[in-house]
Amino acid sequence: MDVKQRTGSLMVILPAYNEEGNIQRSADCIAEKLEAASVSYRILYVDDGSTDRTWECIRNASEKNPKVRGLHFSRNFGKEGAIFAALCNMDLDCCVVMDADLQHPVDKLVEMYHLWELGYDVVEGVKTDRGQEGLLHKKAAGAFYNLMSWAAGFDMKRTSDFKLLDKNVVDVLVSVPERKTFFRAMSFWAGFRRAVVEYDVLEREAGESKWSTRSLVRYALNNIGSFTEKPMYWIMYMGIAILGGDVIYALIALIRSALGHPAPRNAGVIFAVLLTGSMIMIAMGIMGFYIARIFDEVRQRPRFIISEACGSEISMGTGTV
Ligand code: UDP
Ligand code: MG
Repeated sequence: MDVKQRTGSLMVILPAYNEEGNIQRSADCIAEKLEAASVSYRILYVDDGSTDRTWECIRNASEKNPKVRGLHFSRNFGKEGAIFAALCNMDLDCCVVMDADLQHPVDKLVEMYHLWELGYDVVEGVKTDRGQEGLLHKKAAGAFYNLMSWAAGFDMKRTSDFKLLDKNVVDVLVSVPERKTFFRAMSFWAGFRRAVVEYDVLEREAGESKWSTRSLVRYALNNIGSFTEKPMYWIMYMGIAILGGDVIYALIALIRSALGHPAPRNAGVIFAVLLTGSMIMIAMGIMGFYIARIFDEVRQRPRFIISEACGSEISMGTGTV
C-alpha cells in the first residue's frame, strides 16, 4: 500500500458514565505512556451525564494536567452521543476513542499512533478475547455480531469502539446528518486506509458495566435499523412464503376432495387465521420500528447537550452541528 510518513498530535477521547474511580487513573496512565513515547497529545473526557463524582474528577484531572479537557452533558445521552460530541470537538491531527474504565489497553495507544504516522487513516482495535464476560454475555454478543455482520455486509467482529481515526475521517463522520449512527460500523462505512491492532479486553479497573440485557437488545435493534433495511424485505419474503403455503394447502384440499376424501375443515381455518394474524402483527411491528426511526430522524433533536466544559479551547453547545 502507498502510505506516507507523517507526524502530528493525538487526541485521546474517553466517554465516561459514572466512572469516578477510573478518571484520574486513566488520565495518569495515558499521560505516562504517551509522554514516554514523546507523542504530542490531549485527553478529552466526555461525562455522559454521570450521577456520581465523575465530573468533579475530570475537573481535578484537568487542573493537574493542562492537557486534560472535559465536556459535561446535561443528562445521560448514551455512549454513541458522547463519542460524537468528542468528535465534534476534535481539533488535532488524529484521535483514539477508548473506554474510560481502562478495559482498552493503554499500551496499544502508541502502536496505533505509529500506524497513523505511517499513513493509515483508520486503525481498528480488534478484540482477541472478550475478557471475563459471562458465557451468556459472550454467546449473546457473538450472535449479535454474526447477525450484524450478515446484515451490514462486513465482519463486525473485526471492529470495536477502540480505534484511531485521522482528522479527515472524523470530519466525514461528523458531517453525517443521521441521528442514530453506530460508531463502530461508521468507520468501516467511511473507508480510507485501514490497519488493525489486536488487543485483549482487560478487566474493568473500578465501577461496573452500564449494560443491562434490555439496553443491549435496544442497542442491537437500533444498530440493525441504522445499517440495513433487510427487515423490510423480510415482510415481503414472509408474505410470499405464506402465499406459497396457502396455494399448496388449497391444492392438497382440492386433490383430496377430487379423490373423494373430505377436506380438513376447522383445524385448517384456525391454523390459517392464526398464522396470517401473527404474520400481520410481526410485519406491523417491523414497520412500526422503522416509522419510529424516521420520526426520530425528522425531529432533528440534538444527539447531545453540553452543559459545562473544562480545560482549554472547548466549545459548548449541542449536537446540531
Ligand atoms: N458509557 C457512556 N455512556 C453510557 C454508558 C457507558 O459514556 O450511557 C461509557 C462508559 O463509561 C465506558 C464505556 O462507555 O467508558 C463502555 O461502557 P461499559 O464499560 O459500561 O461497557 P462494557 O465495557 O461493559 O461493554
Ligand atoms: Mg467496560
